[in-house]
Amino acid sequence: KPQIVWLRRDLRMADNPALYHAAQQGPVVAVYVLDDERAGSHAYGGASRWWLHHSLESLSKTFGQRNAQIVLRRGDAVEELCKVAEEVGAQTIHANRHYEPWWRKAQGELADKLDLQLHDGNYLLPPGAVTTGSGTPYKIYTPFSKATLAQFPPRDVVPEPDTLSSPDSWPRSDTLEDWNLLPTRPDWAGGMRDFWQVGEAAAHERLAEWEDPVIDYDEARNLPSVDKTSRLSPHLHFGEISPVQIWHALKDKRSEGWKTYEKELIWRDYAQNVICQTPSYAKQSYREDFDKLEWRDPDGDPQAAADLKAWQTGQTGYPIVDAGMRQLWQTGWMHNRVRMIAASFLIKHLLIDWRVGEQWFWDTLVDADYASNGANWQWVSGTGVDSNMFVRIMAPLSQSEKFDAAGYIRTYVPELSELDTPYIHDPEEHGCLPQDYPAKIIGHKEARERALAAYRAIKD
Ligand code: FAD
Repeated sequence: KPQIVWLRRDLRMADNPALYHAAQQGPVVAVYVLDDERAGSHAYGGASRWWLHHSLESLSKTFGQRNAQIVLRRGDAVEELCKVAEEVGAQTIHANRHYEPWWRKAQGELADKLDLQLHDGNYLLPPGAVTTGSGTPYKIYTPFSKATLAQFPPRDVVPEPDTLSSPDSWPRSDTLEDWNLLPTRPDWAGGMRDFWQVGEAAAHERLAEWEDPVIDYDEARNLPSVDKTSRLSPHLHFGEISPVQIWHALKDKRSEGWKTYEKELIWRDYAQNVICQTPSYAKQSYREDFDKLEWRDPDGDPQAAADLKAWQTGQTGYPIVDAGMRQLWQTGWMHNRVRMIAASFLIKHLLIDWRVGEQWFWDTLVDADYASNGANWQWVSGTGVDSNMFVRIMAPLSQSEKFDAAGYIRTYVPELSELDTPYIHDPEEHGCLPQDYPAKIIGHKEARERALAAYRAIKD
């Protein structure tokens, strides 16, 4: 009997437990459903749609080389999968477990209608597997990370299926072009095309390039001017490569760099565990008292709207923030250190609710991930499960100097490219502000005082 494989964020042939097990049991009908309704506010944004197009295109080619295909359907995921099952006479559907709340709900509905076989494919350890001695989930990263390491090694890599046999007839499929996932006018994706190679093969090429630099990762990862992080995040998000494959490929690189990198991969597992416990984590402050904070509202306050626009377009007058926001716009990605600085700037300097930033990142990041994005925004804002970071207000100008961001600023803010290093971090302060670059939209001291006052108001 044909076996359906429901593809979502696991767009790979190798180490794909759902695909592997399906292929052992019969002809494979792999299905990807574009379902924009179930995810609501977290339907894929523009940058993700761009990546998705290329990732599906690439995996479809790989399936084609094996005389198989990916069936593309648009609509409600559960309804479409049931229709495909009926069309090909299948009863069993294989999927790798996903933990976004809308996918968990869909998994439940599907299990009532078909024989749904769920597999663990996308995390180092299955979310929910790491618990305290008394069996409760961890809330905080550090003990979670230690307990995760104590359970390693992760599972073995699952091989690629030897063969993919075809069903007697293929069900109807959309074409990728039907879905209009790519921008047309204006075509904003030029920078992304230059920056990225999409797909499973490209993910493995990037991993191969990363095998040596990972050794210095602990020292270099905080420096935005050097290309010393793996940039595997979008490949991981779309599942073109699994963290288990990365772990096994790098585990023998015994170095401080590898140990630090391993902990970053565990952050990804941690974020997923957080949304398993609190499904609305990317939408609601965990510490509810922050709902009372008098955030400045871009929908009702024209000055807040102008400030938000300046942040989004990289025109705040803070070079490190502007470089980050422009890198994001051009490439769909931003260096982690700069993500922290830019996020902190929006929340604390501009006093705009973290959820506004979360939604902007959701639309513009190629690695936009419900769990990782939500968990990191709540971490920076201090509204989450971790210790309260709200009062730790990052100073963007000293961060820029400390992490030697001059080269990074020169790349992404060309108006400042002629400035020497000591001046480039804060041209206004040094009296060398170029005509075509804005003055700071708010002073650091003033912003800090405003944020702390707003915070004190909810605490009193
Ligand atoms: P590397 O430094 O090479 O790390 C390797 C991998 O570890 C990453 O690919 C990623 O999968 C994982 N990882 C590293 N840091 C984190 C972290 N803090 N949290 C969770 N996983 C991590 N990451 C996303 O994948 N998607 C998001 O939507 C996202 N939004 C973020 C929003 C904010 C405000 C901040 C501060 C961070 C966010 N991150 C997000 C985390 C981090 O910035 C990116 O994972 C990282 O920059 C990706 O680049 P890289 O692959 O070179 O990472």
